[in-house]
Amino acid sequence: MSLDVDNAAQGRLEVVATPIGNLGDASTRMREALAAADLVVAEDTRRTGRLLTQFGVDRPLFALHDHNESEVVPGLVARMRDGARLALVSDAGTPAISDPGFRLVRAALAEGLRVTPIPGAVALIAALSVSGLPTDRFAFEGFPPAKAKARLASFQALANEPRTLVFYEAVHRIEASLRDAVTAFGAERPAFLARELTKMHEQCVSDSLGGLLEAVATGRVTAKGEFVLAVAGNPTAGDAEHVQVGASELMRRLLAAGLSRGDAARLVAGVSGLSRNDLYAATVDD
Ligand code: SAM
Repeated sequence: MSLDVDNAAQGRLEVVATPIGNLGDASTRMREALAAADLVVAEDTRRTGRLLTQFGVDRPLFALHDHNESEVVPGLVARMRDGARLALVSDAGTPAISDPGFRLVRAALAEGLRVTPIPGAVALIAALSVSGLPTDRFAFEGFPPAKAKARLASFQALANEPRTLVFYEAVHRIEASLRDAVTAFGAERPAFLARELTKMHEQCVSDSLGGLLEAVATGRVTAKGEFVLAVAGNPTAGDAEHVQVGASELMRRLLAAGLSRGDAARLVAGVSGLSRNDLYAATVDD
C-alpha cells in the first residue's frame, strides 16, 4: 500500500515524546506541539494534565491506554479526517515504545493522514548511550515475561544472540530477572544497569551480570524506581555467524569458478571447520 501523505487532509497526528524524569529534557517542539493540538491524546490524562500545566498549556485531553486503544482509534481517526490536529503522548518518553499508540499510528497512516514524530527521550536509547556496550547493532526486547518459567525460557532463547540486548524491567522483578539472566547468559557476561535515568537518584552500573545481581541483592543498587538492563551479545555466536557468512561466500565463488559442489564443499570445510555435508546441502538448497 502506498499513500501520498502530502496530499492528505490537514488533520494530523503528532507523536510527541515527553521527558522520562527530568523536565529539563522537554523540547521547544514538544511544547509547541502540545499547545497547538486540538486534542492531546494521553495514556493517563491526570498525569499529562499536570505536565501541560507545568508548561502553561491548556488543551483538551483524551484517554488512550492499552485497554481502550482498539475501541477509541476509529473515533480519533475520524476527528483527524475532519481536520483535527492530535498530539499523542504517553506517561513518559516516546509513545508507542513499550507504550500505547501504535494502533493509532497505524490507523492514521492507513487513512493517508500525516503522522509526524516530535522526538525526545527514550529510556532504552539513553541507557544504551552510556552503557559502554556495542551499540552498532542491538535488539530491544521490551519487558521480559513476568512469569519466571517464561522469562527464563525467553532469556535462554536469546543466549546466542550476537547483538547487545536491551530490556525494560519493573522494580519488583529486577532481582528475579537478573537471576534468570545469570542462568541463561552466564554470570560473566558484560552488562549494564540503569536506574532512574535523568532523575535525582540516577544510578548507572557497568559490571558482569553476576556483579549486577550482587549489586541489587545487596542493596548497592537500590531496588527502587525504573530500570533498563543491557546485556552484551554473545561474542562466540558473532564469530560463528561470521564464519558461516564467509564460508557461504567462498562456496559461491568456488562454484562460479567452475569447481564441483563436492570439491568446493571439501575445500571450504577444510578452512572453516564447518561440516562438508552442510556446506554441500546449503548450495543444493540455493
Ligand atoms: N515509552 C517509554 C520510553 O520511551 O522509554 C517506555 C515506557 S515503559 C511503560 C516504562 C519502562 O521504561 C520502565 O519500566 C523502565 O524499564 C523504562 N524507563 C522509563 N523511564 C525510565 C527512567 N527514567 N530510568 C530508567 N528506566 C526507565
